[in-house]
Amino acid sequence: MDLTPRFRRPDEEEDEVRRCALDGCDAPLPHVPNRENENRYCTPQHRQQARRSRRSANHN
Ligand SMILES: [Zn+2]
Repeated sequence: MDLTPRFRRPDEEEDEVRRCALDGCDAPLPHVPNRENENRYCTPQHRQQARRSRRSANHN
């Protein structure tokens, strides 16, 4: 039996899901109400990784 309701709220489209800002990682970010702007990576590890790769890849 499949009783799962299938309605979608218009303000909850998939585009609204924030994803990890690290290249190659598109893990959805957890919802952190007060930190949505500063938390752009799924984990602190990825945050550091992104920082490092940005520094090393400095050919713009
Ligand atoms: Zn990530």
